[in-house]
Amino acid sequence: MARVKLTDTTLRDAHQSLIATRMRTRDMLPIAEKMDDVGFFSLEVWGGATFDSSIRYLNEDPWDRLRALKNTIKKTPLQMLLRGQNLVGYRHYSDDIVVKFVEHAAQTGIDIFRIFDAVNDIRNMEVSIRTAKRVGAHVQGTVCYTISPVHPIPLYVKMAKELEEMGCDSLCIKDMAGLISPQNAFDLVRALKEEISIPIDLHSHCTSGMAPMSYIYACQAGVDVLDTAFSPFAWGTSQPPTETTVAALRGTPYDTGLDLFLLTEIKKYFEDIKEKYRGILDPITERIDTNVLKYQIPGGMLSNLVSQLKEQNALDKYEAVLAEMPLVREELGYPPLVTPTSQIVGTQAVLNVLMGERYKVVPKEVKDYVKGLYGRTPAPVSKEIVIKVLGDEKPITCRPADLLPPELDKVTKEAQDLGIVKKPEDILTYALYPAIAPKFLHGETKEETLAAPANGKSAAPLPSEFKVEVDGDLFNVRIISAGSGMSVQPAESQSPKVMDGAITASMQGMVLKVKVKKGDKVSKGDVVLVLEAMKMENNIHAPHGGAVKEIFVKEGSTVGAGDALMVIA
Ligand code: MN
Repeated sequence: MARVKLTDTTLRDAHQSLIATRMRTRDMLPIAEKMDDVGFFSLEVWGGATFDSSIRYLNEDPWDRLRALKNTIKKTPLQMLLRGQNLVGYRHYSDDIVVKFVEHAAQTGIDIFRIFDAVNDIRNMEVSIRTAKRVGAHVQGTVCYTISPVHPIPLYVKMAKELEEMGCDSLCIKDMAGLISPQNAFDLVRALKEEISIPIDLHSHCTSGMAPMSYIYACQAGVDVLDTAFSPFAWGTSQPPTETTVAALRGTPYDTGLDLFLLTEIKKYFEDIKEKYRGILDPITERIDTNVLKYQIPGGMLSNLVSQLKEQNALDKYEAVLAEMPLVREELGYPPLVTPTSQIVGTQAVLNVLMGERYKVVPKEVKDYVKGLYGRTPAPVSKEIVIKVLGDEKPITCRPADLLPPELDKVTKEAQDLGIVKKPEDILTYALYPAIAPKFLHGETKEETLAAPANGKSAAPLPSEFKVEVDGDLFNVRIISAGSGMSVQPAESQSPKVMDGAITASMQGMVLKVKVKKGDKVSKGDVVLVLEAMKMENNIHAPHGGAVKEIFVKEGSTVGAGDALMVIA
């Protein structure tokens, strides 16, 4: 009997989609053993944004989380989501870093590597697939599902066949935006079943509301594995609920055979956990949003977009940004929207709206994408945008990582010089997140506090700005948000007189690099500072030539939109 198996995503994708990947390890471990008893095909517990979120907001070592889960979950394979050559970061890493990371992840406890590339360029998946195979892991080759004029079914079939030939043990249809309709799911799974013999997993999100129906159709076409999450962390922008799927398939040829009573016990646990995170659960991510059918925004991206716009104090621009996204996506050659292309399209759309002029500010990542450094785009990038973004530079056509010299020795030395290497994986954490890893590995990252749920009597609002005097200097202190620190700057910099010639931050972010010193001469257009905002590097250019008179920030400073960064006179 054709039984369907389930991969449960509660400990990774589900909380990434609903609560911006903030679930703590201590909230996972007490229930892990019970989850192990269910008989899932696998538990997705790592990868995606869990790595970033753990070190940036939770003061948790992602490697320790994996080890702890592995110690508790003895029977069920542990699965991670790996972004091909991007691993769990946002850029391409050199092959030696990719090899080291995959080896180390397998050693630490990952049994199944779900490997994808955001633009479906298999060249970007080769090294991680080969390495995962070599260390004896199960490799789930992935096709990113999207809808566009350049994504017909035969294209996915062709890609799936290539992945099977490369030795992939199973195939995942990754419908990260929840776009697949029941009929499309049926047609795609059936077309794949005719051409490949490895098991097929359908991964979808409820964002548009169609996923549970599409799962049933996929079953009828012969799908082998479905991705679900426990109901408290299901629906909305997350996966369809595990318990509901099990009940719906009962007595059909696709019966999962899983124990509903045990599932209900686990569900009760997660109900309580969800209450703890109520304060960060955005209603927008919890609802079914049929706009996704038009805008094609994946679940995790919607939740991030909302929090980014909130940080920028621009939540009123939500609809405008949503409308800008399909335009940007078309201009950029119809990439499927998934990390990092979702950030690339999303951030450019946000900037186009916030700046009041399209492509006025172009982050480094968008430029790299247009240059071909993320791989071959599904359709060519619009000529007009190539010229606007690259000028006279020519895009590349080779495998992007072929241009990257080995990095491992260099980052190893850097990490050792910083005194942050206590265990081998610290080097990898640093290699992936050089801007935030040192602070974390030095033990200086504070765990973000959870906002209390906004029910009934809320605490009196704190003033968001006040003045503090330190050694005779007056500082403006501005609270940006709980946990993300404060932005401090000399009070005078706020006065209109001194603000003349001041470069201000156009958005909330962190200063990655200060490229000039006080007294330096700069020309109009020089990059004077690099600001990391919305997980992207944004070059800040000198608006005019002159001498650097004052610098108000240093590398690592958190700044808010409108804060003065430096003065060029
Ligand atoms: Mn997903």
